[in-house]
Amino acid sequence: MKLFYTSVIVAALSLNATAFAKTCDLAIEGNDQMKFNKSELTVEAGCTEVKLTLKHTGKMKKEIMGHNWLLTSTADKATVTKAAEKAGPKNGYIPVDKKGVLANTTLIGGGETTTVTFSTKGLKKGGDYTYVCTFPSHAALMHGKLIVK
Ligand code: ZN
Repeated sequence: MKLFYTSVIVAALSLNATAFAKTCDLAIEGNDQMKFNKSELTVEAGCTEVKLTLKHTGKMKKEIMGHNWLLTSTADKATVTKAAEKAGPKNGYIPVDKKGVLANTTLIGGGETTTVTFSTKGLKKGGDYTYVCTFPSHAALMHGKLIVK
């Protein structure tokens, strides 16, 4: 009987899910071959926040094979990538003015993990978003699409 009531409560909560804050977890890995393990990430409908975890599965230091995860609109990708390289290692290759940056992690090296949590308020359903690693010359290989449902 107790189980039955629990299910009813869970069902009632799911019906109202859109009224509550909902953090959705996304995960991606970068390696020593200068690659992300995913070319696409999806933010499901109803997510009010995204918690993205970037794991560097390689062994190389961040000064040599550093990775970060920066989200921008695809239209801004080239501009943001250029500004990121200019910002340099002391800023983790993140543009200082954050112009065009929708979300970003810190820069990490082999064996490290970093996370960023951001609101989905600034994202439009069906919008054209790209994530990149902005370490110099990585963006050409290390990028993918963020799909917002
Ligand atoms: Zn990288």
